[in-house]
Amino acid sequence: MIISMKKGATPQEISHVRKLIEELGYKVHESQGSERMVFGAIGDERSKHRLTSLEAQPGVEKVIPILAPYKLASRETKQESTVIDLGHGVKVGNRKLLVIAGPCAVESQDQIMEVAAAMKECGAHMLRGGAFKPRTSPYAFQGLMNDGLYLLAKAREAYSLPVITEVMDTASLEIISEHADCLQVGARNIQNFQLLKEVGKTRKPVLLKRGMSTTIEEFLMSAEYVLSNGNHQVILCERGIRTFETATRNTLDLSAVPVLKEKTHLPVIVDPSHGTGHARYVMPMAYAAVAAGADGLMIEVHPRPEEALSDGPQSLRPNEFKHLMEGLRRIASAVDRDI
Ligand code: PEP
Ligand code: MN
Repeated sequence: MIISMKKGATPQEISHVRKLIEELGYKVHESQGSERMVFGAIGDERSKHRLTSLEAQPGVEKVIPILAPYKLASRETKQESTVIDLGHGVKVGNRKLLVIAGPCAVESQDQIMEVAAAMKECGAHMLRGGAFKPRTSPYAFQGLMNDGLYLLAKAREAYSLPVITEVMDTASLEIISEHADCLQVGARNIQNFQLLKEVGKTRKPVLLKRGMSTTIEEFLMSAEYVLSNGNHQVILCERGIRTFETATRNTLDLSAVPVLKEKTHLPVIVDPSHGTGHARYVMPMAYAAVAAGADGLMIEVHPRPEEALSDGPQSLRPNEFKHLMEGLRRIASAVDRDI
């Protein structure tokens, strides 16, 4: 249920109502809007009639049910868009677009440093690179693991860039949290509820990638696992879903962007690299994503895609990425965003 306070409610009235909600056994989620305080009462729906009676309390404007099953992620609970601080002065969810770039996997010190230098020069904001890689084949390159984390952390220091890397299981969560500024939960783990609970207990921003057969509602319920465990810093990433179409690696569902922006206050970014699987389609879909209202992009960049140990065909060369960034400035200004 949502308990919306009146515009002129006094601090005493606000704290009294908060106390009453807690006494009824609900968790309180506070959201201070520009005009009024709004409480989300999260808990057992069976005693919700007792919350309805709060409408009689001084300072309370109205008590309304949260219809969505994802209570904390819903825009009903929090109308203002969430802005997440990723460190090194980088944020996502405001007017400024977030551009994350880097290789699919960290492969060597030279490789990650070369990409970091190039993307920093082009104006990208955050460096990506997988150290623990989820691969379809057990015989394929699995990532440099801890060594990959150290190399990523080195690049972060050298270029003052926040870094993001994937966490595949709870066992590696602690070491990854020590080195990364943002935890990526990949498409294959979107319904690994135990992992979602554990990342929800950390205080690191989390990037959740949509699963290949995840509906929007399931996607938001996965976000809810992280939020309900106390971590409110969740970024959603559309990366394509599996359909009958085989011309592209996945079908990039750009309609997910306006749908998600309507249903949730969380930032939404798009990954056109995994979404298309082909470097030549990355630029047009990146532009379309921003035009559709995405808060940012995640792009795979490799100094020599033909030598990449994973996802070479969809990786841009640094000069192609530079070209993408130049065009992105024009698209961003056309839709009233900064970059
Ligand atoms: C990745 O970002 O390299 C990755 C494995 O992505 P996804 O989980 O979307 O397949
Ligand atoms: Mn990849």
